[in-house]
Amino acid sequence: MSSASIAGFYAEELVWFLTLFLFGLIVGSFLNVCIYRLPRGKSIVAPPSFCPHCGEFIGWYDNIPLLSYLLLGGKCRACKVHISLRYPLVESLTGLLFGFFFYEFVLREGKPLSVYIAYVALASALIVSSFVDLEFYLIPDEITVWGTVLGPIYSLLFPTLHYSANSLRGLALSGNERIDAVVASLLGILVGGGLILFTALFGSIVFRKEVMGMGDVKLMAMVGGVVGWKLSVIIYFLAPFFALALAIPLLGLEKERKLPYAPFLSIATLVVMSFQRPFVEFFDSRTFILSEVVKGLF
Ligand SMILES: [Zn+2]
Repeated sequence: MSSASIAGFYAEELVWFLTLFLFGLIVGSFLNVCIYRLPRGKSIVAPPSFCPHCGEFIGWYDNIPLLSYLLLGGKCRACKVHISLRYPLVESLTGLLFGFFFYEFVLREGKPLSVYIAYVALASALIVSSFVDLEFYLIPDEITVWGTVLGPIYSLLFPTLHYSANSLRGLALSGNERIDAVVASLLGILVGGGLILFTALFGSIVFRKEVMGMGDVKLMAMVGGVVGWKLSVIIYFLAPFFALALAIPLLGLEKERKLPYAPFLSIATLVVMSFQRPFVEFFDSRTFILSEVVKGLF
């Protein structure tokens, strides 16, 4: 292979990454609207964007993702009040995930576009849930309930979503790809939501206070419906480590403060999704051995 074609290969990947990064910036801009309006019970389609401080409508030229924030120096053009850093943060985070997921799953792993769409949709739902939770200590049902309902439906339409996460490999579930995918999604909902529900009940009995809310249960059910039960188990055990590493140092300053848990479930989900191959292989080798043992018994 000549060096030119290698360079060409990389250039093509870079173009894809940047294209989807830019698309993600636009989606991120819409997610910011959702983060502001959903917990306030406002419509996410109308009216057009306005400054939360002075109420002045924002022209399109001041509403370009990332760029406008930089050009305006992070201040509203009309009232000069500081615009929350959350806006460029959510936009760049969404952009990076849209670009990275395409590179990782479509270009490198060759997964179909339907899987990519499900993954970026889940990532978007997690971003909205996390930032609302950080501010309001609640997770909007509009996101998690619909997300949980859509998981199995999407799995029926695009069964490849659960191809590598086929829950009972070797035990010949139904033989029908679509039914297996729906079962995998439902199992993910049960395991993901169930683990958090169990923890919430356990916590309220042992500590006599709410350690986790129903919002977290619904969030993890939504995650499970997309990523399946295996990755849900890993996410469940990984999330507390992110909470320990990131939140406890902050909480140490302020006692008795509530801890929003959606951000940590979301970080764990995005990390596990991004580096899922070893986790899936770990589980697959064991369910395979298990299925061989079961077959050996008969
Ligand atoms: Zn303003």
